[in-house]
Amino acid sequence: MAYDKENIFAKIIRGEIPAAKIYEDDDVLAFEDISKAAPVHVLVVPKGDFVSFDDFAKSGADKVANFFAKVQKIAADLGLVENGYRLITNHGADASQSVAHFHVHILGGRELGGLLDDDEKIR
Ligand code: 5GP
Repeated sequence: MAYDKENIFAKIIRGEIPAAKIYEDDDVLAFEDISKAAPVHVLVVPKGDFVSFDDFAKSGADKVANFFAKVQKIAADLGLVENGYRLITNHGADASQSVAHFHVHILGGRELGGLLDDDEKIR
């Protein structure tokens, strides 16, 4: 899939629409999800034209390592290490990816339960 520069996260990165920013540097932006699924629900995005994890993972090991090192730091700075947190990244239709700019969800602040909704497990 070609990258669409008009996707909502590209607009947030460019500052064209607002977001509650948690962290920003030259490579990465983290901001609160507009529809929180947990008390802490932060999205971390690279500042590059990557549709999804599959796309981003092919961009080079250094870039991937740098990105996930920042995800770790953001989660730690949010105070989530002791009680725990979950990282999610959705790639494509079966994962219900809804924004076609690679992003990692950081979820925490409560007991998050099982990996998937029970009734979605055995289909
Ligand atoms: P996905 O389903 O693609 O993994 O996750 C996309 C996430 O982006 C969803 O959790 C959704 O709530 C969030 N989202 C969609 N539009 C906006 C927006 O305009 N601002 C913010 N902060 N989050 C958004």
